[in-house]
Amino acid sequence: MKSFAYVKATNVEDAVRAITAEPGAKFLGGGTNLVDLMREGIERPDTVVDVTGLPLNTVEELPGGGLRIGALVRNSALAADRRVRTRYPMLSQALLSGASAQLRNMATVGGNLLQRTRCPYFYDGTSACNKREPGSGCDALDGFNRGGAILGVSDSCIATHPSDMCVALAALDAEVEVRGLDGTRRVPLADLHALPGDTPEIETTLAPGELITAVELPPAPVAANSRYRKVRDRASYAFALVSVAAALEVREGTVSQVRLALGGVAPKPWRAREAERILLNGPADEAAFRRAAEAELATATVRQGNAFKPGLAKATIVATLRELSRELSTEGAGR
Ligand code: SF4
Repeated sequence: MKSFAYVKATNVEDAVRAITAEPGAKFLGGGTNLVDLMREGIERPDTVVDVTGLPLNTVEELPGGGLRIGALVRNSALAADRRVRTRYPMLSQALLSGASAQLRNMATVGGNLLQRTRCPYFYDGTSACNKREPGSGCDALDGFNRGGAILGVSDSCIATHPSDMCVALAALDAEVEVRGLDGTRRVPLADLHALPGDTPEIETTLAPGELITAVELPPAPVAANSRYRKVRDRASYAFALVSVAAALEVREGTVSQVRLALGGVAPKPWRAREAERILLNGPADEAAFRRAAEAELATATVRQGNAFKPGLAKATIVATLRELSRELSTEGAGR
């Protein structure tokens, strides 16, 4: 591993100043992704600014019913938070489906948002990878692309965003609070991650030196009836082939509110806006769920190894919505 300077930040302002002073510097949170990348020589920072001592590790109520989640709250703590489990169960389920218990105890919310793809060619320094080395090509296009993305892709990169948590946050209309030298700004989660286009090395809309300080969840009563369903090659410690975060409210057989986002299929957490549009104010039945899933996947672009993903994504969307609607029927019948 390349040698680097270590700086322990004691407040947010110092952390931002320290990172801005060194163009090659990186923030260090739980280290569950950055340290791996440094060991592999993929990330080679001159300076690491440790932010784990900053006072950003609480979950607080917001006026009006939302939650403010500090960027250093550990994934395991957030998943176990009673307010998250009852008001936003899809988020708790998404967190618990990710990584292992040990990793969730270390990983932070801010780090989870910024974790990098697990495309195998990105981690292999001998392969062509436009994300790691712009202009070098993409060995995944005609290589091992079983895990590759099918929505929002380009000829430069088909890598997926690996986070489960971010899929739930996308469905919940989360906002990210960011601190830079010029002050604090807020970024809708939907605008935080960038699609690859011709510049897959640019993964977020953050400016150099900006630090994620919190994530805010607006109140969302529909989210009390929500699910995160993850399909993967083994039952634990695996990234999603396809995942679905969904919330549903049905009144007299009609969908009155719906939230839907997909993971494992795109270079960013994928809010399924087209499916939501079709579902809203329509019947809460199997045919409508299928129409919505078909429409959302209509623009999918597949490669040889991931040609199964559109079908799997559609089936997972339908199954998740079916499960949510059945639970609503059961609750209604029990009253
Ligand atoms: Fe690199 Fe993206 Fe191609 Fe993977 S898909 S090899 S990350 S450019």
